[in-house]
Amino acid sequence: MLELLRDPVAFTTLATLLGLFVGSFLNVVIHRLPKMMERDWHAQAAELRGEPPSDTGERFNLATPRSRCPHCGHLIGALENIPVVSYLLLRGRCSHCGAGISKRYPIVETLSALLSGYAAWHFGFGLAALGALLFIWTLVALAFIDLDTQLLPDDLTLPLLWLGLLFNLSGTFTDVQGAVVGAMAGYLALWSVYWLFKLTTGKEGMGYGDFKLLGAIGAWLGWQVLPLTILLSSLVGAVAGIGLILAARHGRNVPIPFGPYLAAAGMIALFWGESITSRYLGMF
Ligand SMILES: [Zn+2]
Repeated sequence: MLELLRDPVAFTTLATLLGLFVGSFLNVVIHRLPKMMERDWHAQAAELRGEPPSDTGERFNLATPRSRCPHCGHLIGALENIPVVSYLLLRGRCSHCGAGISKRYPIVETLSALLSGYAAWHFGFGLAALGALLFIWTLVALAFIDLDTQLLPDDLTLPLLWLGLLFNLSGTFTDVQGAVVGAMAGYLALWSVYWLFKLTTGKEGMGYGDFKLLGAIGAWLGWQVLPLTILLSSLVGAVAGIGLILAARHGRNVPIPFGPYLAAAGMIALFWGESITSRYLGMF
């Protein structure tokens, strides 16, 4: 088995398949985690107002209830739940009522599979590949949750930060100093931008989740990649933002989530950060 995992092609294939199924789980996280947080907030607010808890008795978490068609309530069976394959076989429609299934599901699954396969190919079998997979999966979930809700849940950003520090105890991606300084510098960098922006314009340009996410990226990859990560996310964010404004789908004052761009920049930094940074520094 270990022999098989050491073979780059076999390991990449295995990681791609794993990424496909994890992508299916990420769809559940993306869909349910914000709803779970909202339920928590309502419960806490009710408690503060001194109201009795409105416990309906139904559990709602990542495992229960089972997935249903949002249109007709048809329970999704195991055969209808095979990532991407089921979507293609069902031609994107519910087997019971024929309502369209969001393209989002196969997109997230495919993205997760491709990124997982590439991580396995890039790092080869070992601790770095395991770390890279956890990093990528969490970033995919965060990016889509931020797109949907403009939230970056602490339940994801904080464990991501701690995991980065843990992996770098043994220097998997950077040394311990680089990771600790990276976590602090990442948070402080965007925190400073936030306050500068707020003091000069009176508006809030981004949320605290963005600071925590960049702190997490710093914990994984070291402070050295932070300038590149900020530069890349701002560039992609600016282009997408201008595009959205031009397409008039967004008012100028509607907040544009920054998390997806940070997540994309974090993945670019994971794979190519070192070579881009050294080439860039080599120019001077
Ligand atoms: Zn249906």
